[in-house]
Amino acid sequence: MKYKSFTNSPILYLVATPIGNLEDISLRALRILKEVNKIYCEDTRTSSILLNHYDVKTPLESYHNFNEETKSEVIINYIKEGHDVALISDAGNPIISDPGFKLVSLAIKNGIPVTTIPGPSAFTSAFMTSNMSLPFLFYGFLKPKKIEREKELLELKYYKATLIFYEAPHRLKDTLESILAVLGDRDIYIARELTKKYEEHYYTKVSELLANFQEFRGELVLIVKGYLEEGYNIEERFKLIDEQIKLGLKTNEAIKEVSKMLNIDKKELYKEYVKYKEEG
Ligand code: SAM
Repeated sequence: MKYKSFTNSPILYLVATPIGNLEDISLRALRILKEVNKIYCEDTRTSSILLNHYDVKTPLESYHNFNEETKSEVIINYIKEGHDVALISDAGNPIISDPGFKLVSLAIKNGIPVTTIPGPSAFTSAFMTSNMSLPFLFYGFLKPKKIEREKELLELKYYKATLIFYEAPHRLKDTLESILAVLGDRDIYIARELTKKYEEHYYTKVSELLANFQEFRGELVLIVKGYLEEGYNIEERFKLIDEQIKLGLKTNEAIKEVSKMLNIDKKELYKEYVKYKEEG
């Protein structure tokens, strides 16, 4: 389907707002927020701080997880009547672990032009300082229940891409324990309170973070090294198996041990090791 032309059509603007520092808003974002007929936001009290700071007087209404379904239709009808609308979230980009998906789907279905006013997002900002490599997979929040969270992590275990998660500080310890149990002891980077007064960056290992665990406060992004990046090429894996055998383990046991240690498939490792031994 050809995208509808923007000329003379009312538009849905997805406007990025700061992730902590009020100065991180674009001039275009401010202009659009002043020009549209209405701004929809998650929490009117939170967004009023930003809008008052920049003297934006546009009417503000709430659009959040609990009214997304019904409110989306109301907003679409409002746009169809000829009004321009901006959607913002409490911080960063709408849609990214924030409400807005239903509204955008419905707008596209109704042929309403949707455009973005780009700006900061916590995960892209954190990735820049993470010292981790592309490609990355942005996951958002893992599920709070251990069993569901570990199932999600299991699905990500063999991804070669760097993994990016959002997490709340009170769930950090449980999440780190699940990461250690399922993904293994990988390099991890934590970005805390980006762009704010108490911004901090941790470059460490999951086990080290847990060994000296202190409660974290504020907002966090976790970035975990991808599977292949963990190191251990094929020869190094065989060397580890040989070392285990030297320590007294049977071949099967050594392979099981190393596959556990490196978080890799036992059967695959067994096949590779047998082939390597046969080829001398
Ligand atoms: N839509 C936002 C975005 O574009 O980044 C994310 C919203 S999500 C509900 C909130 C999560 O983003 C927080 O729990 C935290 O993981 C992350 N986050 C937001 N602001 C942050 C900041 N200043 N520093 C670190 N993480 C942040």
